[in-house]
Amino acid sequence: MRVLLVFAHPEPRSLNGALRDIAIKELESQGHEVCVSDLYADGWKSEIDRADFPWLAPDAQLIPGAASKRAFEANALTADVKAEIEKLRWADMLILQFPLWWFTMPAILKGWVDRVFAYGFAYGVGEHSDKRWGDRYGEGTLAGKRAMLIVTAGGWQEHYTPRGINGPIDDLLFPINHGILYYPGYEVLPPFVVYRVDRFDEAGFQSAAERLRERMRTIKTASPIPYRRQNGGDYLIPSMQLRTELGDPGATGFALHLDSTNL
Ligand SMILES: Cc1cc2nc3c(=O)[nH]c(=O)nc-3n(C[C@H](O)[C@H](O)[C@H](O)COP(=O)(O)OP(=O)(O)OC[C@H]3O[C@@H](n4cnc5c(N)ncnc54)[C@H](O)[C@@H]3O)c2cc1C
Repeated sequence: MRVLLVFAHPEPRSLNGALRDIAIKELESQGHEVCVSDLYADGWKSEIDRADFPWLAPDAQLIPGAASKRAFEANALTADVKAEIEKLRWADMLILQFPLWWFTMPAILKGWVDRVFAYGFAYGVGEHSDKRWGDRYGEGTLAGKRAMLIVTAGGWQEHYTPRGINGPIDDLLFPINHGILYYPGYEVLPPFVVYRVDRFDEAGFQSAAERLRERMRTIKTASPIPYRRQNGGDYLIPSMQLRTELGDPGATGFALHLDSTNL
């Protein structure tokens, strides 16, 4: 497979840097081709602003979604964004790697998503009507490709369990896995998460490294998270609510969007 790894850590000698190198080595030894976008090293510009749309008249109001749409359609996105879109088209698999900062991805990576997942490319795709709500959540430009997260966290694993004070890790990562990756069509593999990393000793590191190698060996065959498809009949259109007869009766929140018959 062709793999794009988007790396969001400012320090190459970090734990994240070491895990990235392990992942790349294992992927290449399995015959995969790997391309890395190293956001800090590349000086990635994270904010959407007028500089993204130099063709916009100085007195025109900047409406980010509308400007993104116009630029995408006219092939007038900035060169850095176009290059990332080409990498996404090239890759069969996308890996986002980052340390968990304030329960989510670092701002630079969020800014990569904001700018690269352009209108017409990652959202606003397909027919929008009272019968169909576009090509998204399992359909879209990136359908047929796979994606997964590699995440390091300072907190304990227990703190991220269903009764843990930080909230379940699957809930915390839901906006990324479901809202950012599944939305434009990726099949999303379960995340690789390493906990309590700030106190890592050599044994902890070696064990995480081996788990990561194993995950990299199975990227082609691992089962994706069984999110429900938007246009598969599970949701009412246009309210986009899950049909009342589906899901565990007592269930609320993100878990409702998993098809438990596929778990
Ligand atoms: C702004 C901010 C917000 C944060 N928010 C959260 C949060 O919401 N939730 C949460 O759980 N955590 C949070 N943290 C903690 C954060 O997730 C961790 O500090 C981070 O994941 C550690 O990854 P790193 O690559 O920076 O590790 P590093 O600091 O580079 O390394 C961590 C440890 O790993 C070991 N190590 C590193 N490299 C190697 C190697 N090559 N071989 C062997 N051992 C090695 C060392 O013992 C080192 O001390 C936050 C941290 C910051 C700075």
